[in-house]
Amino acid sequence: MRPLIAHVRLDHFRHNYLLARQRHGGRALAVVKANAYGHGAVRCAQAVADIADGFAVACLEEALQLRAGGITGPILLLEGVFEAAELAEVQAHDLWLVVQSREQLEMLLAAPADKPYRVWLKMDSGMHRAGFFPADYAAAYQRLLQSGKVDAIVKMTHFARADEPGCDATDAQIAAFNAATAGLEGDVSVANSAGIMIHERAHRDWGRPGIMLYGSSPLPDGHPSAAGLKPVMRLSTRIFGVRELGVGEPVGYGASFVTTRPTRVGLMACGYADGYPRLASTGSPVLIDGANSQVIGRVSMDMMTVDLTDLPQAGVGSEVELWGDTISVNDVAAKAGTISYELLCNVKRAHFVYG
Ligand SMILES: *Cc1c(COP(=O)(O)O)cnc(C)c1O
Repeated sequence: MRPLIAHVRLDHFRHNYLLARQRHGGRALAVVKANAYGHGAVRCAQAVADIADGFAVACLEEALQLRAGGITGPILLLEGVFEAAELAEVQAHDLWLVVQSREQLEMLLAAPADKPYRVWLKMDSGMHRAGFFPADYAAAYQRLLQSGKVDAIVKMTHFARADEPGCDATDAQIAAFNAATAGLEGDVSVANSAGIMIHERAHRDWGRPGIMLYGSSPLPDGHPSAAGLKPVMRLSTRIFGVRELGVGEPVGYGASFVTTRPTRVGLMACGYADGYPRLASTGSPVLIDGANSQVIGRVSMDMMTVDLTDLPQAGVGSEVELWGDTISVNDVAAKAGTISYELLCNVKRAHFVYG
């Protein structure tokens, strides 16, 4: 068996969910879209099914996977529906849905409603991606309410820059949201993970934690609010080849790395086809049998190479942590010029082990 393993700690997922909800207060939807950020949506949802207030996914297909996996609690479609035919499924499977555009609103108003819909009406309070402008929000709300097709409307918005401590854009979004929802009945939901972690004014009726559930902080490195989060995924593999090179020898595609000392090179089973970012090549941190080392040369599709020169005990069979308990997925992401979200979502071809 190829030794690339994504070990998913469901107890850590549960711990992080409880921590997120406690920090936020009120209730929290566990955001398990994109296959739970690459961790396995059904397994993660099942691990908190007895305690979670509900779940959030991107779309109908993801919600149906959870229902097929035995999840009976509330599930919110964060993107809403893409065509009217999906609304029958929303009703049949008791799903909640975001309404974030005029088109989605018209679809809902024109659809049959054997039972009431539970709508999360989204405002564009400044991110300018999705949602009704503040000036149009109350009218959309009133049309929904007067249609008689909804039993409750949750007022929601989403932050563009909540992960930047000291940035006032989030306060501006909250102020715009508060002003435009004043006097409209219903629960409120505004906080993603970063909102939960550092914006107390974003703590309302419902939190929507995502990345923090997986134990990765969206905040700048070392921010104290990350304390207590436990990494859920540990991606590991093993060395299956070793070679000794002299000085001035190239390693890997493009000879992007050339040895500057006699070098012991370890070959391991993981590449960009597994989701390890190719941009995190030479210098990206790894842990080999518990000792720090680094990637050398370019990451290729199925393999990559690491420096064993200072680890004489390491060799074929040595275990390599690519990220997890010691190597922060955030650090690897930073080497690749991206964020942990993308790395976690991209993991594939690994053997997933739950426990
Ligand atoms: C993905 C998503 C979240 C979760 O965001 P994190 O930064 O992962 O906590 C919350 N709300 C909405 C609308 C989302 O799309």
